[in-house]
Amino acid sequence: MTAKILDGKTLAAKLRAGLADRVTARLAAGLSRPGLATVLVGSDPASETYVRNKRKSSEEVGMASFGHELSIDISQAELLELIAELNKRADIHGILVQLPLPKHIDAMAVQSAIVVSKDVDCLHPENIGYLAQKGRQPRFVPCTPAGIMRILEEAGVELAGASAVVLGRSNIVGMPVALLLTKADATVTIAHSRTRELATVCRKADVLVAAVGNPALVRGDWVKPGAVVIDVGVNRIEDKAAKRGNRLVGDVAFNEVAEVAAAITPVPGGVGPMTIAMLLANTLHAAELADS
Ligand code: NAP
Repeated sequence: MTAKILDGKTLAAKLRAGLADRVTARLAAGLSRPGLATVLVGSDPASETYVRNKRKSSEEVGMASFGHELSIDISQAELLELIAELNKRADIHGILVQLPLPKHIDAMAVQSAIVVSKDVDCLHPENIGYLAQKGRQPRFVPCTPAGIMRILEEAGVELAGASAVVLGRSNIVGMPVALLLTKADATVTIAHSRTRELATVCRKADVLVAAVGNPALVRGDWVKPGAVVIDVGVNRIEDKAAKRGNRLVGDVAFNEVAEVAAAITPVPGGVGPMTIAMLLANTLHAAELADS
């Protein structure tokens, strides 16, 4: 393997330590404890794990965590009522509704119901609008894209003028990371399920971000020698040799691509831990904005 491993786990731990210090300083100054409300609808095991990790991490940095576990049958009106209550509470600075929501609930209506000053997941159209417009900065940057940008910054990757390809155009990863890369002066191509000659498109990238949800889609010969590859995918695949009979892999064929790329994020231990660190950073920022 020739690629440098971009270790998101270590970087995220460093960021969380810094956030914990800032929370301690706030409390010592008599300011409020930042509070994060998580809302989980149903009992999808992956979502339960994500929410558990978010709550645990927020508590570890000294924040207050308010968990709301709701039945899968909850109506949209009841969920919106809960969001309206959380919007009003002074001890809650950030609200995170774990996706996906069940089909009978309109996720966009729920995201739009979160007051923008507590939209720490940055899914409210107003925050994304700010992100998209030249000369404006959003209150919050979406967590996974913010984590990706932080990894690139830490690795010293020169983005101005670079050719970046983002595989995936979701509201939560692909589109906002493409906007952030554009703001950083990269020349960005967004590829998706209708893109023709995907491998050829990817081979043009100095920076390739894969956020597709398709195990090992990106092969070694899709990558330009010396490129920086960010693997956002989290896919559970069967592996009889593994203890639990399965394991996590990304959207990138790691072993092949690591022979070609200059640098690559691993799965797990790359983008995932950074997503949580950025959620905590956004929650602290929300508390700071509430002070002012
Ligand atoms: P999503 O909403 O399902 O979007 C997937 C995107 O990939 C879509 O734009 C889709 O194109 C495109 N796509 C699907 N199959 C493709 C193919 N064969 N070739 C090219 N493009 C294809 O997924 P998401 O929420 O963005 O998540 C993507 C992956 O990232 C998932 O594995 C998810 O678990 C992971 N994730 C990780 C983190 C983290 O913190 N590490 C956070 C969020 C998500 P169309 O638009 O044309 O349908």
